[in-house]
Amino acid sequence: MTGELTSTISIREQKQQPHHPDSPAHTHLPHGRSSRPTWTIEESEKLYRIQGWGEPYFSINAVGHVTVSPKGDRGGSLDLFELVEALKGRNLELPLLIRFSDILADRIERLNACFAKAIARYNYPGCYQGVYPVKCNQHRHLVEELVQVGHPYQFGLEAGSKPELMIALATLKTDGALLICNGHKDREYIETALLSMRLGQKPIIVIEQLEEVQLVIDISAKLGIEPIVGVRAKLSTKGIGRWGESTGDRAKFGLTLPEILSCVNQLRDAGLLNALQLLHFHIGSQTSAISVIKDAIREASQIYVELRALGANMNYLDVGGGLAIDYDGSKTNFHASKNYNMQNYANDIVAEVKEACEARHIPAPVLISESGRAIASHQSVLIFDVLNTSDVLSGEPAPAHQNEHLIIRNLWETYGNITVENYQEAYHDAIQFNEEAKSLFNLGYLSLTQRARAEQLYWACCEKILNIVRTQDYVPSDLEDLEKTMASIYYVNLSVFQSVPDSWAMNQLFPIMPIHRLDEEPTRRGILADLTCDSDGKINQFIDLRDVKSVLELHPLRKAKVQENQGSGGEFTDQVTQPTPLEESGKTSHPQTREPYYLGLFLVGAYQEIMGNLHNLFGNTNTVHIRLTPRGYEIEHLVKGDTITEVLSYVQYDAEDLVESIRRRTEQALRDNSITLAESQRLLQNYQKSLSSYTYLSS
Ligand code: PLP
Repeated sequence: MTGELTSTISIREQKQQPHHPDSPAHTHLPHGRSSRPTWTIEESEKLYRIQGWGEPYFSINAVGHVTVSPKGDRGGSLDLFELVEALKGRNLELPLLIRFSDILADRIERLNACFAKAIARYNYPGCYQGVYPVKCNQHRHLVEELVQVGHPYQFGLEAGSKPELMIALATLKTDGALLICNGHKDREYIETALLSMRLGQKPIIVIEQLEEVQLVIDISAKLGIEPIVGVRAKLSTKGIGRWGESTGDRAKFGLTLPEILSCVNQLRDAGLLNALQLLHFHIGSQTSAISVIKDAIREASQIYVELRALGANMNYLDVGGGLAIDYDGSKTNFHASKNYNMQNYANDIVAEVKEACEARHIPAPVLISESGRAIASHQSVLIFDVLNTSDVLSGEPAPAHQNEHLIIRNLWETYGNITVENYQEAYHDAIQFNEEAKSLFNLGYLSLTQRARAEQLYWACCEKILNIVRTQDYVPSDLEDLEKTMASIYYVNLSVFQSVPDSWAMNQLFPIMPIHRLDEEPTRRGILADLTCDSDGKINQFIDLRDVKSVLELHPLRKAKVQENQGSGGEFTDQVTQPTPLEESGKTSHPQTREPYYLGLFLVGAYQEIMGNLHNLFGNTNTVHIRLTPRGYEIEHLVKGDTITEVLSYVQYDAEDLVESIRRRTEQALRDNSITLAESQRLLQNYQKSLSSYTYLSS
């Protein structure tokens, strides 16, 4: 399958600006107000920070759509919105995970190029031979592609468990590529890894627990195969950020220095000291500060040269993972960013190791890194649609008349008198009157209609106050949360638990933005609520240049074009979509009444897919692998998402048994005359159709 290639549209270079009250993120408009006709795509670029986190792969084109340049600066780009429409036309429903194979290749090439440049710059006498940690994203097509594009660089794999070892052994076919065997190991793991040497593999068994040393000695003696052994050191260098606890004395993995010495002695006693060739450490994923990386390399280099001095045949230094990516584009050591680039990373590793080895006159090791996040994140984009929205506001309030309840008249008066001078006082008055209205209602002195009217006036006051707050340089602390309180809820066709588990579990930030309408001002502020019935199933933290935003700038939903021609047109204003009766076609009609609004969650290629869970039984999403071709693009692989039958089988339900159970109950209902024949047929048809359908909502 192929599609059209759109021309690459260059976007004006912009210098990063710190947040300023006048920057687009602070150019606030009231909820639902129509957008400025002068809004530009440059303003969208700045607002969503796409150059900060997206370069060189993502940008915005002249028609306000996100474009993808999968080969980075080397040309060729795709209009992401058009791609999604084309994929939907092929019956691929949202949410849809799009993997760009060329981005994966570009990341591997960049990493190798950075090390090659650093090696040349510092005249490093050794070489670099990276491995990809399979744990980061184990999906078959991705690992196979990675091995293929890594072939010219003898790029290898790292396994952190027995199942991952199985993948690595069968997939890695590159002569001389390394297979780093990490993780807890039993006899079978070690035996299998050693025997794979007979097939031409180059496994290095990294001792993570002291007990593994004796196992390796025994098994290699039994098989008559001399192993290549590594040790994982627990460095004293402190990690940083969400995953910073991978180092230090209480770290879960690795050997302390006394344990490393004990390992050396055991291997020496067994006549296997020559087998000890590698030192490994891992200071935690997403290491945002280059100083931490430098400290770790310095410490590890000293351990390395000391091991050599003890007689070990040291030949490899494996710096683990940790190479971070810039999720918020701020170029800082904030946990969602990093204060260095890939070239700085390679330079520091090469320079530090060279210096330590030269000082002790020992040969420079082969440098290995186990970068996962830096290789796999950019290639995956999750596209999902907005189902509907809910706002606290319900239109302009009508004036209070003389005989309305005092509390309503008070709220109306507060609303009418809000100014820049008194907005803080007015806010406190509005809160007080609203609280009083609730008490009066609870005591039976206000009707439901009166209470609703009071609430509407209260929110109208809040909105008016918020519009003033947004123009102020200083926001009093009691008004800081107003933006969050007033945010619209955008209900999205997605499970946070399945597709972005790190957002739910550890508040990790990912760039999220609309993939179209970027030439139009996003006049709403919203948070995202997913399909699950869990209050945690939401995203209410978004990237920002400074710190984190609690709302995302979004566009109002619009009626579908066809509807606009027939009726009033314009914004879609209803808050809760009323379910329509089933039509004869068996379809509900509401999603067709609005124009689709697509959001993209970017940089999700590392860890998210495999750690996602089946909360509420929302399964794997549809996935496509897209590759650029001279004439456009081709869909290399298509992996259909789970059907309801599949997710039910994970929890031991058999679809046929379920259908049979419903069939028997409809028969009984027919006998009891509580259902008509037509209804029973409809029920059974729906039930069966649902079982074979996608677990998400169809649009
Ligand atoms: N190596 C080891 C031992 C790890 O535990 C991990 C992940 O935490 C990695 C490599 C990959 O790290 P990253 O994704 O930060 O490159």
